[in-house]
Amino acid sequence: MKDIHQELKEVVSSLKGHLVYQRDILLAEGAPISKSPESGVRSQEKKAQSSSLIPHPSSLIDSQLPTPNSQLPTPNSQLLLKLISDIGDCQRCKLGKTRTKLVFGVGNPDARIVFVGEGPGKDEDIQGEPFVGKAGQLLTDIISKGMKMRREEVYICNVVKCRPPENRNPEPDEVDACEGFLIKQLEVIKPEIVVALGTFAAQTLLKTDLPISELRGRFHDYKGIQVMPTFHPSYLLRNPEKKKETWEDIKMVLARSG
Ligand code: SF4
Repeated sequence: MKDIHQELKEVVSSLKGHLVYQRDILLAEGAPISKSPESGVRSQEKKAQSSSLIPHPSSLIDSQLPTPNSQLPTPNSQLLLKLISDIGDCQRCKLGKTRTKLVFGVGNPDARIVFVGEGPGKDEDIQGEPFVGKAGQLLTDIISKGMKMRREEVYICNVVKCRPPENRNPEPDEVDACEGFLIKQLEVIKPEIVVALGTFAAQTLLKTDLPISELRGRFHDYKGIQVMPTFHPSYLLRNPEKKKETWEDIKMVLARSG
């Protein structure tokens, strides 16, 4: 059972999310948008800058909110904030009772590439951010060292937003309850490519029972978005010999995202 203190924190988190959303709407409506001489900067850079405007529920509790003088949010960042507000202190499935922090997702709300994992692990549950443990460090290395991109340029989230106890697989009723949030995230961001990390994410997105070994290495279609399944970083930590195949998948993503 969750204690009253935790419940209060989550309610406060939800409320802060709502207030931030309302404030950003006012900012967007009332503040002039300057015509910067840098309007010709690469769109990817612009996209990366806007990522700082997406707080996740946990960060709303104990770290800084966007300040009134900060950069104006993009339409996508506003839509994601609205979605965070809608999720609130979600108890739509039983994982809501056992989580520490709801892990919504982080990154660039206008990202061309989105990484989707299975669900938060222990470190993610504590910190409220996806892929922050050892597997997260490996994913960051893939993005920064392999793809030569900053983690802030892409978007990272999971199929389910709350940690399954003992890191078990999410159960069908939990996926049914939570999948709508992932669908909405992808509808907002509209990435060119989704990298599905691991069997569970790939099978959930592609509605298939095929193992990751048969799914990886080629693109699939998900509602018009190209999906590249590849091995989950946690699996790679246990099976480092599979990094070569993962790199082949990532190279295909880079070639396709151009
Ligand atoms: S896993 Fe998803 S549906 Fe279940 S409580 Fe968490 S946010 Fe809600």
